[in-house]
Amino acid sequence: MTAKVNPTPSLSTRAVHADDPLNTPYTTDVSPAIHVSTTYRYPRNPNDLRPVRPEGWPTSDTDVPPHIYSRLTSPTTTRLETLLTQILKNSSLCYSSGLSAFFALITYFRPPVVAIGPGYHGCHSVLEVHKKLYGLKVVDLFNEKEWDAVGLGEGSIIHVETPVNPTGEARDLTYFAKLAKSRNAILSVDATFAPPPLLDPFQFGVDVVMHSGTKYIGGHSDMLCGVLAVRKQEWWEGLNKERVFLGSVMGNLEGWLGVRSLRTLELRVLRQSQSATKLALWLHGVLDGNDEPLPDDGPTTTEDKSHIRKILHKVLHTSTQLIRDPASSSWISQQYPNGYSPVFSILTHTTNQAKHLPSKLNFFHHATSLGGVESLIEWRRMTHLGADERLLRISVGVETWEDLRDDLVQAMRSLSLEGVE
Ligand SMILES: *Cc1c(COP(=O)(O)O)cnc(C)c1O
Repeated sequence: MTAKVNPTPSLSTRAVHADDPLNTPYTTDVSPAIHVSTTYRYPRNPNDLRPVRPEGWPTSDTDVPPHIYSRLTSPTTTRLETLLTQILKNSSLCYSSGLSAFFALITYFRPPVVAIGPGYHGCHSVLEVHKKLYGLKVVDLFNEKEWDAVGLGEGSIIHVETPVNPTGEARDLTYFAKLAKSRNAILSVDATFAPPPLLDPFQFGVDVVMHSGTKYIGGHSDMLCGVLAVRKQEWWEGLNKERVFLGSVMGNLEGWLGVRSLRTLELRVLRQSQSATKLALWLHGVLDGNDEPLPDDGPTTTEDKSHIRKILHKVLHTSTQLIRDPASSSWISQQYPNGYSPVFSILTHTTNQAKHLPSKLNFFHHATSLGGVESLIEWRRMTHLGADERLLRISVGVETWEDLRDDLVQAMRSLSLEGVE
């Protein structure tokens, strides 16, 4: 759905009201109706019939195009896209999953070269498909010599994930925006780990923002969704046209879940970000410090802390990145003025400890994915070939953070007392 972005109401107000103009006059529902139809009646008046044009179905020529067939548009998904356009501050499109959004992005721009770094492994696999299809070249995000060797330039894509999976550490978008500009390349950002209000990539010279809407936009571990928001209207029109034929639209019911979820986006994300930062910094403090009490210790005893140190080796998050590399604080505070990734990772001393810890926890499901209201922990090696076998990824939910802290403490104490090494 294209629309002018109205930045005046705050994020939460936009998330509750930006789709009000799509309320239909024949219902008085406050919660949007669920529309499941795949096909929509044409106007009864023959003079109102608008046949398909050479350039495709009606898209941007009116604010609310008539719905024809749900592979093109549908009422609930259009509602979700209307909200996302106002929330992400550029014209947005939804896809059946995060990876189908990334597939559509690479298909549309057909870049000769993509530069990408370590991060969410599925995006690398999407690029493998494109390599097979047309000989795309993929180079390392951090190796400009490789870029030069294959001629990364006009029409190529520099794809940055920030904060990055699985650690939740941040990457400097301003730095990559300069590189992209100097080479006339397109800068796309996978901002799944920092949804609004944490990060607005467009402020830092980014061309395309991608989200796995399955995570914070859905927020309840019950829908798959992908999102692209793009800086240029012509890109939106091209992507919208191609999506009709890729067929990778969201389901109607998922679209409705997405609208329901966005109402609470800011509440959830701020809470999850604050809790993750408190947990990560507290755990880091236990590792780092002597046995002096910390302000956030709660019931944790000195003895508990020595058990924690027998299990926990390292904490990885934007907050601990700042401690290790204080020079990054100027760009990190600009990019993340409202808080850091609600996901972080810990390393245990041994693989065995990482495999055992999830089964000791009461308030964390041992499962993949992230972004839901429920806290999750994952021994990352379960789904990621090549992951550090001591790494546990933690997605912090909306539970009270002190309960999560105490749960982690009892789990590590119990592992340590059992002598798991
Ligand atoms: C989950 C995820 C994806 C893929 O999204 P799906 O909705 O699972 O297809 C892409 N990037 C990141 C950073 C993710 O966390």
